[in-house]
Order: sequence, then structure tokens, then C-alpha cells
Amino acid sequence: MISSLSDVPLFAGLSPADCAALEQHMQRCDFVPQSVIVREGSAGDAAFLILSGQVAVRRKDPDSGVEFLLSELGPGQMFGEMALLTKKPRAASVVAIEPTSCAKLARADFERVMRDHPEVALGMAAAFAERLERANQHAGVDFVSLGRVRIDPRVLQLVPGSLVTEHQAVPIAFCNNRLTLAMTNPNNIVAFDDVRRILKGVMIEPVIVTEDDFRRFMSTTYAQLTVKAEPTVPRPPGRPAATVAAGAKASATAIIDLLQSDLVRELQLAADTQEPAAETKQDLMSASEDAPIIRLANSILGLAIKQGASDIHIEPMEGDVTIRFRIDGVLQVVQRLPKKVQLGLISRVKILSRLDIAEKRLPQDGRISVMMESKPIDFRVSTVPGKWGEKVVMRILDKSNTHLGLDKLISHAPTLALVRAMVAQPYGIVYVTGPTGSGKTTTLYSALAEINDPGVNISTAEDPIEYDLPGVTQIQVKADIGLTFAAVLRAFLRQDPDVLLVGETRDKETAHTAVEAALTGHLVFTTLHTNSAAVAFTRLTEMGIEPFLVSSSTIGVIAQRLARRLCQSCKEPYAAEPASCAFFGLPAGTTLYRGRGCASCGGSGLKGRIGIYEVMKMNAELRQMVGRGTRAEEIHAAALANGMVDLKGYAAMLLTEGLTTVEEVASVVSIES
Ligand SMILES: [Zn+2]
Repeated sequence: MISSLSDVPLFAGLSPADCAALEQHMQRCDFVPQSVIVREGSAGDAAFLILSGQVAVRRKDPDSGVEFLLSELGPGQMFGEMALLTKKPRAASVVAIEPTSCAKLARADFERVMRDHPEVALGMAAAFAERLERANQHAGVDFVSLGRVRIDPRVLQLVPGSLVTEHQAVPIAFCNNRLTLAMTNPNNIVAFDDVRRILKGVMIEPVIVTEDDFRRFMSTTYAQLTVKAEPTVPRPPGRPAATVAAGAKASATAIIDLLQSDLVRELQLAADTQEPAAETKQDLMSASEDAPIIRLANSILGLAIKQGASDIHIEPMEGDVTIRFRIDGVLQVVQRLPKKVQLGLISRVKILSRLDIAEKRLPQDGRISVMMESKPIDFRVSTVPGKWGEKVVMRILDKSNTHLGLDKLISHAPTLALVRAMVAQPYGIVYVTGPTGSGKTTTLYSALAEINDPGVNISTAEDPIEYDLPGVTQIQVKADIGLTFAAVLRAFLRQDPDVLLVGETRDKETAHTAVEAALTGHLVFTTLHTNSAAVAFTRLTEMGIEPFLVSSSTIGVIAQRLARRLCQSCKEPYAAEPASCAFFGLPAGTTLYRGRGCASCGGSGLKGRIGIYEVMKMNAELRQMVGRGTRAEEIHAAALANGMVDLKGYAAMLLTEGLTTVEEVASVVSIES
């Protein structure tokens, strides 16, 4: 909020008297969200200074007619002055995103200030220079000169010539599953979509070329390099585009396979393998030691780490071997490999994880440790026999994870305060619930990090140990030798602990030992596999814990989900559908947000993840209800009446704040009546 012109850097050089005089000439205008303050193409008759609120500056792409977000501006920033200076029509539209107040400065007054106060004119020139620089950095798009790049002809063939010409976008490099696309208009999302349809799972990095350069390149180098083996058939008139796309996709996939196997990675294997030497394993051994197989395995691991994947799936299918990565919680196909690499690749992974390569009928568990850019990274590997061969899933455990911290996870201040109050209790149990992949472990570790202090004895029983916590005794559970959660927990209790973390409560013995620990003065953190906070009590009762024990030992329950975060660079407001508003309890026509797709989010409109929480802290009423064995629905309703924000309510807050989308939330928050 700007209260006086002297708060604005641009006018800081003016004397208080000049500021006051200028303020006299400014007219205050208020805008509701979605209202257009300045329209592209209209005459520029005034400049605006934002006093409060937030606006989006958008420009229409003349080719596609699609509007692109150029920037967002807030209090203290000006817009509209460019048209006053250039005397040309407005180059962009400006739309209020929030309720916004501006001070409007008419052309005559603007010109008078510029004339009478050279320091303001200079300041404005500096502001323009900075804006330009920021715009360049923000876009992060480089210029290239096509004459100076050496291009692999195979890369050119990744995108069919018809699309290259249509969009003036030519592929010039492919490395680490990233395609560099030289474009005359890097904001052309239609081009991104078309290329992505052919090259599934490939990241596209746009660079800018001038139209002259593009035309010259197409008529000379492109023609020469592609003339020999143009694999794509030119589209005959009347032939549907989809058929061309399907053919292009198949040949692009084959080329990518070739390029991938050419890659050599800087991945070092931390622990080399002790290779078993039994006769029967000879064939598998030699298949797995083939140099291309070693490179392929390394490249899959390296690529997954670079892309920030959490899991790698190697899935033998009838006709190929599909490699999928889980990125931001969503599984996506990265590669389809020929069936002939299956045996070698899977054997290689099994050797690296010290599994028995001859055993293919039973599930196995192992681990791989690698160093990547001098950072230790572990892969927890599991195999199961499938119809078309062994399926391998590798969970990536990046132990240097720096995302820990409750304040980094929980964006809503009252919820954060509630969780911190629970963590600060001297004894009792805090349950974190949610389905697999909902971020329970990260929440637990972040809670532990808050109380980790040399004066506190913290012990954890985990499966697997996902992060290294300095100063904490961490034990890996090994059920096959009898080292169960319950067994580790009982051993800990003899070691005078203050705080205990039990990775998962899934049986009566563990649940019972945890309750006992809590009631004898320990603070216990654990997870349960339930959908809502209130159902945790039902689950514990089903496990055979007496309701009165649950009631007296529980501090609170945190239910959570992870949704993908809306890309903050390309989000745009829209008026929500009546059905969404009704479901989330929002007023009709509430402004929600969706991602348009941009270079920053790879066109998906989503980037990173965000937590959705439902925190139920026990109070006298809830304790009584739990002790009586009240149904979960009634406990949930009572907690809501006490002011609890449930998953749906929390999701609604994220939606109105433009942090995620209705589709994302609908896919992770169960829609119950
Ligand atoms: Zn984006």
C-alpha cells in the first residue's frame, strides 16, 4: 500500500511540495478483479501508479490470437507511461488481478512532470532499462544464430518439416532428454503443443532466432541436411494430420533412442559391485556388462535425478520395455526401449542393487548408492515378477533434501501455528495420515527438525530411511530378521528417549507400543494410512486399541495430500464454474486460477507441489467422543464446528490464492458427500 508519492522510488527526488502538487493532479481509481484498466491497441491518454493490489500485463500474440502474460505489477509500480512517451497505441493490456487502486496521471500532467523535473525523467529511463533487463532474465530465453550452431541431422528429423515451417520452430539440439527448439516466437504455445504431441516426455527449451536467420537456415542448411533421409512423408492434401503425427512420433522415438544411447553420463557408482560368479548366471552377467547396457542404466538413473523424479519404473511390456518417471507425483512415460535390452537392463539394475540376478520368480529388495555431482543419492530398488518379465521400481532417496521445514510445507499461518503447538507438546502421539505419496514422511521429518536439539534424545524406526538427520538415532526396520517397527520401538524405550518416530503404524503391536510410549511420557510421531483425520481413530480401534487409550494418548491428527502447484509465471484468473464453487463452498463466480502453460513450466501450467492439510488437535469434546467410540463422520463434524479447516476447506483457500487448480485438487481430495 502506497500512502504518499514520496514512497515511490521514481518520485523520491521530488521535494515534498512538488509531491503534494503532483498528488493534487492525480485521480484515484479503483478496479475490481478482472477489470481491464488499459486495453491493448487503444490510445494512451494516462499513466497509472499502483497504490495497492496487483495487475497483470498481457499482450496478444498476433499469430495465434492468444494472450500472454508479460508481467505482474504491484504497489509502487507504474504502467501506461510507455504509450505516453511513444505516442503510439497501447502495446499491452493491463488487467486487475486483485482489487486494485491506482493513481491516474493524465497526459498533460505527465508531460509537465517530465519537463519540469529532469530527475523523474532520468529515473523513468532507469526504470525502463531495469524492466527490460528483468524481462530478458525472466524469460530466460537466449538468442542463437543458426549459422553458428552445429546441428546433428538426426535432431532435425525429430520434428516433421511441415511443423517446422508452420511454426517457424526448428529443433537444433537434443541432450539429457531436453530438446532445444529455435523459434522466431518463443511464446507460441501452439508450436510447443504440436512438438510435444510428437515427442512425448521430452522437455523443450526454446531459444530465439530472428526471422531472417530462420529463413536463411531453412533455404540452405536445413534443406541440405534433411534432403538425404527425410523420414516423414509430406502430408498429401486431404490426409488427416493425425496420421502424419503418428508416423512422425514413431520415427522421432526411434531417433531419441539412438541419441540417448550416445550419451555418456558423469554418474559415478559409489560402491562398485561384488559380482556373484555362479555358472548359471553367466549369460545374465555378460548381458548386463555390455557397454551400451551400462550406459543405458546410468543414463536412466542420471536423467531421473536431473528431472527431479521421485521414482523410476522399468516395466517389461509385451512389445517393449517402458521407462516411466514419477515427477511432481505424476507418472509419465520417458522412454520405450526395445524388448532386446530388457534382460540386460534389469540384470544390470539387480547387480547394482546387490540382488540375486538368477532369482526371477520372487520379489526382491535392494539398494543402489551413487554420487551425483558429489551429492550422495540412494535408490531403493524392488522387483516383482510380472507377466512380461520382472518389473523394477526404484525410489530415489535424496538424503541431502533441503526442503524440510514446517514453514516451507504449510503456507497457511493458522494451520502452521496449530501443527507447531502439537509438536511442542511434552508427550502424546501425533499421527500423520494420508495415502502413499502424500508427503507424510516429509511432514514428520520437518516436525522432528523443529525439536531436534542436543538436549533431546530422538530415535526413529524407518523403512526406508529417507533423509539423514544429524543428531538423531535412525534405525532401518528389517522385518525379515525380526527387526519390526514394534521390536525397534520396544528397544528404544529401554534407551531413555524423549521423542520417537515410528515410520508407519500398520499392526496392533506397533500401535499398542506407541500408545504405551506416549502414555509413559514420550512424544511419538507416526503415520497411518487413512483418508481423513477423523478416520484415524476408527483405524486404531480396528487395530484393537481401546478407544479410551486412543483418546488419552493422542495429541492430534494431521491428514494431508500433495497437489501440483500452479505455475506462478503463467497463471491466469477465470470465473469458477458454479459446480466448483458449490463443492468448495465458495461464493458463485469466485475468481480462481489456471495455468496457461509457459516455458517455465514446460507448458503444463503446473510447477512443483503444494500440501493440503487437515489438522485435528484434540480438545475435551473430541476426547470424549473418541473415548466413547463415536463414528468418524460425527467427530469430523464436531471438529469442523470447533473451527477445524478440513482438506476441502484448505484446498479452497489454495484455489482462491491461485496456488493450485480445481482439477489438481479434485484428483487428490476425495469427493465425498
Ligand atoms: Zn507456466
